Amino acid sequence: MTFVVGLTGGIGSGKSAASAWFESQGIIVVDADLAARDVVQKNQPTLQAIHQAFGDWVLQKDGELNRRALREHIFKTPEARKALEQITHPAIRSSIIQQLMQADSPYAILVSPLLFETNQHELTQRTLLIDASEELQIQRASQRDGQTEEQIRTIIAAQMPRANKQQVADDIVLNDGHLDHLYQHLLPLHQEYLTLALQASALKKQPD
Ligand code: ADP
Repeated sequence: MTFVVGLTGGIGSGKSAASAWFESQGIIVVDADLAARDVVQKNQPTLQAIHQAFGDWVLQKDGELNRRALREHIFKTPEARKALEQITHPAIRSSIIQQLMQADSPYAILVSPLLFETNQHELTQRTLLIDASEELQIQRASQRDGQTEEQIRTIIAAQMPRANKQQVADDIVLNDGHLDHLYQHLLPLHQEYLTLALQASALKKQPD
């Protein structure tokens, strides 16, 4: 598998903006959120497992997942959240691994809002935190998806605290300026990741 950089950050921190920049440099980006959505598509074995575990009410008439009903259920019932995660997490992980194995860029990025909260960071050799103050997170996320400040604060509260992420990340970019300022900070990291990936592949090729 190629050298993998895990990219994370709280809601509205600028993960998607940073990922898009890496993509513009020819780097394959695997998105954990997209993988999570894919595994519960209609007729996927993961959706069938959720159906079996929870009952008919989790499906809409057209056979698609009733996301809203499921979201409300797990919000009220913590055990249900655990049961759901036991079904979905292994499937999401397999999907991510499969995509990373196919990545043919010098290194790959795994972007995930829950990189450290789940075991997804185990799939990476290096981690990058896109960091922003809570005020900026709220301002950006509310402008992007029209969510209320309260809704965004609830999401922030459910994510790992910013200070903890700062402690565990290998690299941190504070995204508190213009987008150009973000890109300027990503460029030297991109160069570093190219070097690290090259070193890792040279080590692998050495005869033992
Ligand atoms: P995340 O993926 O971490 O939730 P996004 O990358 O989607 O965050 O950023 C949230 C919103 O803020 C988006 O609309 C994005 O274009 C905007 N944004 C991100 N970084 C900056 C920045 N440095 N300056 C201005 N807008 C930004």
